[in-house]
Amino acid sequence: MSSYFKIFLTIIFVFVIIIVMISIFGGSMKNYSRQREAVSKVLKASKSHPSAAAIYDEVKKIVPSISLGTVYRNLDNLKQNGDIISVSVGDGTERYDGDISPHIHLICRNCKNIIDIHIKEDFGKKFATECGFSPDSSVYTVYGLCNNCAQK
Ligand SMILES: [Zn+2]
Ligand SMILES: [Zn+2]
Repeated sequence: MSSYFKIFLTIIFVFVIIIVMISIFGGSMKNYSRQREAVSKVLKASKSHPSAAAIYDEVKKIVPSISLGTVYRNLDNLKQNGDIISVSVGDGTERYDGDISPHIHLICRNCKNIIDIHIKEDFGKKFATECGFSPDSSVYTVYGLCNNCAQK
């Protein structure tokens, strides 16, 4: 075998490796953003402030291979980016909200229902800023009893 031919083979080999790496890496990146997109889409379409498990059940219909762990990872990521918020209803399970416009959460401590009250003016941000405080979100929480539970 001539040395030119060996060099030629080496170059071809390196090329093939690079192409394989690009397709694997690119494929997993695409897969990752597709999963994240699906998690975000499901949450933005929901008005019920679902838990991670409930989001997982819905996302599985779009991406059947997704795991609960991946859903959690994507939710964390979206939260870090400020695209969604999480809500604590007081029972230890975190609930999620894709609506980050200014609103108040009325959270029933009995049935854990979350009622959205949308506000025109973000008064919380106004008061916080006056105190030199930088709020992370414009969603405010009031705990209490809903109409149904208060009547029991
Ligand atoms: Zn209630
Ligand atoms: Zn909400």
